[in-house]
Amino acid sequence: YSISMAEMQVLGVLGRGQFGVVHRVFHRPTKVTMALKEIRLELNQRALQQIIMELDVLHKAVSPYIVDFYGAFFIESCVYYCMEYMDYGSLDRMYPAGIPEPILGKITLSVVKGLRFLKDEMNIIHRDIKPTNILVNRRGEVKLCDFGVSGELNQSLAQTHVGCQSYMAPERIFKTGGPDGYTIQSDVWSLGLTIIEVAIGRYPYDFGSGNIFDQINAIVNGDPPRLPGDRYSELACDFVAGCLMKDSSRRPAYQELLLHPWLVQAEESVVDMEDWAARAHALFLAREAQGT
Ligand code: ATP
Ligand code: MG
Repeated sequence: YSISMAEMQVLGVLGRGQFGVVHRVFHRPTKVTMALKEIRLELNQRALQQIIMELDVLHKAVSPYIVDFYGAFFIESCVYYCMEYMDYGSLDRMYPAGIPEPILGKITLSVVKGLRFLKDEMNIIHRDIKPTNILVNRRGEVKLCDFGVSGELNQSLAQTHVGCQSYMAPERIFKTGGPDGYTIQSDVWSLGLTIIEVAIGRYPYDFGSGNIFDQINAIVNGDPPRLPGDRYSELACDFVAGCLMKDSSRRPAYQELLLHPWLVQAEESVVDMEDWAARAHALFLAREAQGT
């Protein structure tokens, strides 16, 4: 059985990315509301077939920290990818008020568990950790999406990638890792940046200008960003500083991150994530209504 466009009823737009629109759709045969992601790439039939085949292993990526995969297909030269609909959207929509530390701890815990699952169970490096790829639902669950499961797709995306690549680790800028520069440690860097962004409510680097050379210079030669010590505990700051070690070999592995006292504390703490998610989402809707 494979899923197809003919079975979908389009309900609305969830967001727009560099490569296309993400729609909210109703899948008539199963009566499930899904997110349908469009990836517009000028690909040939062989590449498209390869991508659909490679995406198939996602059916095995079943984890509470990973967005469910329902299937993929292509139309003309576009890939369409069906996944679990996360009704509160991505983390970038939840943070402008700045996130309290207990919430930040629980979010980080889910993300690290998701990343460890991808690495240990699926042998996948995420490659694109950032707030828009971390999704939240009304149950207060936090899940990862958009990870690099298909080599063919990774390659096409890397070739067409334009604009800001600002979650990229310093070592990736000169591509010293694998053939394409990605290693598991590069994901840990992006995780560190993402935690700070979510905590303070804005992208952590202040580049001064939009100049790409200034950006590269800040990431490669500047000090890594830090969590503000006046608002976050020493443990939280230490956790993030570990992720943002400029020497990639000094960044902790996921198992070590999970044993860090900050995450141990987050694991043991009782936090009403459902309540936080509902409030953060309500604030987002209010801002949307004001058009800000
Ligand atoms: P980029 O193209 O640079 O990676 P992006 O991650 O924002 O940026 P997309 O992955 O195309 O781009 O997603 C666009 C937006 O759609 C996201 O920012 C997110 O808010 C929303 N979105 C994506 N997937 C889902 C989903 N499964 N459920 C709900 N909203 C989603
Ligand atoms: Mg995305």
